[in-house]
Amino acid sequence: MLTNEELADELRILADLMTIGGDDDVYRIRRYSRLADAIDALPEPIGAVYAEGRLTDMKGVGDSTAKLIEEYLATGSSKRREKLEETTPITVLDLLELPGIGPKTAQRLFQDLHIKSIDELEAGLDAGTVQGMKGITAKTEEKLRAGIARIRRRNVERPLQEVLRLSEQIGEALNLASDVTAVAVAGAARRGVETPRRIHVVAATENIGQAAVVLDKIGLGDGSPTREVRGEFGGGFPIRASLTPSAYFGVTWLRQTADASHVAALSARATERGLPPLDDDEGWRRLDEEEIYGKLGLPLIVPELREGTTAIDRADAGALPTLIRIDDYNADLHVHTHASDGLNTIEEMAQAAQARGYGCLAICDHSRSSGQAGGLSAERLLEQIEQVRVVNDGMDSDFTLLAGSEVDILRDGKLDYPNDILAQLDWVVASVHSNFNLSEAEQTERFYRAMENPYVRVIGHATGRLLSRRDPYPIDIPALIGKAAETGVALELNAAPDRLDLNAEYCAMAREAHVPVSINTDAHRRETLDTIRYGLATARRAWLEPKHVVNTWSAEEIQGFRAPS
Ligand SMILES: [Zn+2]
Ligand SMILES: [Zn+2]
Repeated sequence: MLTNEELADELRILADLMTIGGDDDVYRIRRYSRLADAIDALPEPIGAVYAEGRLTDMKGVGDSTAKLIEEYLATGSSKRREKLEETTPITVLDLLELPGIGPKTAQRLFQDLHIKSIDELEAGLDAGTVQGMKGITAKTEEKLRAGIARIRRRNVERPLQEVLRLSEQIGEALNLASDVTAVAVAGAARRGVETPRRIHVVAATENIGQAAVVLDKIGLGDGSPTREVRGEFGGGFPIRASLTPSAYFGVTWLRQTADASHVAALSARATERGLPPLDDDEGWRRLDEEEIYGKLGLPLIVPELREGTTAIDRADAGALPTLIRIDDYNADLHVHTHASDGLNTIEEMAQAAQARGYGCLAICDHSRSSGQAGGLSAERLLEQIEQVRVVNDGMDSDFTLLAGSEVDILRDGKLDYPNDILAQLDWVVASVHSNFNLSEAEQTERFYRAMENPYVRVIGHATGRLLSRRDPYPIDIPALIGKAAETGVALELNAAPDRLDLNAEYCAMAREAHVPVSINTDAHRRETLDTIRYGLATARRAWLEPKHVVNTWSAEEIQGFRAPS
């Protein structure tokens, strides 16, 4: 069944297709986009609202809209959408991802120039037919071309969350083949790479032909019984599906997860020990990954470390670390509430954290300069601190709610609240949300100043990157890590799936410099607390152990960390 987010997306697709296709039912278009917002903000699953017959209690939902929602929940799509797509191909929606193109401009491009896709837009720009059209000035041409290049990059690499979601769809399709006994994610996504360059799944089946036919039905391969099916999925993104008899599942999964140099090293090791090479399926029949590593004289090397030979060497030296796991994670130290741009109350966020077994949570709403994000004035912040104290008093004694703030670092490196306000907080995350266009030296200096403030505990999402949407601003992260070591400030690994900021490479540098890392979801609604898994994947790739991560400590240790004297 569709999630709230997926249904909201579907309704926005309907509204956009109607707009671009020139549908003049503006009321319906507006109703769909308002309903999408309402469903996005709904505090319970839309499926539950439907099941209890409460759809028409929602604002703006009459009988016909309720029927439409019902159709989506039952089938995942709608007749209306299929009808719209007959005249307005879904590829026109890609145009909306470009800077400066809204539904009206997309409509003109589609209706006047018959441009239906990014490729056709680029061809139009090259031919000079697009320039001079209303809404497309000479100035926007450069932006459009940069946007087109960025979308093209989407088919080279995509965020881990999206690749896992696409992998799941492949898995669902494969599970329709009755003989498939296991489907698993492999490749870079299983290694936790932040932006994998392909989808890669491994499926166990005694009937490879049948699985290949199922894959053919979703546009992959040609249906012939082969063990490697390749193609494109999710709008041009490469995929590889490895089909294997279940006896060879273990060795196939291992081979398809590790990178080439890791596989080569294991194979060489096998030869040294008189064992068959790793590509000899029959030689490793019915062994799981742990047993294969065991035969090679190694402990199980976790997927995140199956790149190159470092982990193999460390294992030989008996020095393989025990990486951070979800059960070590005790405290999310950067979440928002509806007081700024979040969705839930302090209580709801606290209960959600407690339900996940955490012992601590820091409420960190935006500060006053982030006006567009509902940043809190000093007065509102002081009120919120009081509210946090009240909620904390009502919670079990083994749970600690911290009054924090995500304080903007201003252009000159000063913080957005004066020190006498900051002094009343338990936890301060300092982040940059503006002035991305400073020089590298100025930007780095700006962070230095913030780190010198005695109330700052952690620097939030330091590079500002948004995966496949915004490149990092110029900043010297190695220098920042040095400054963190000097000032005792922690650095954040922001686990939001489109940030993963700092990346694994920088987190490893922080570990080597003895700078604690704070992994936080930056959740703006309670469900998003679950995105911690993406942050943990990045942390594990950086060889972080529980001791390196502030969030594994007790509430007392966290409060004592860089506590101002
Ligand atoms: Zn932020
Ligand atoms: Zn935030």
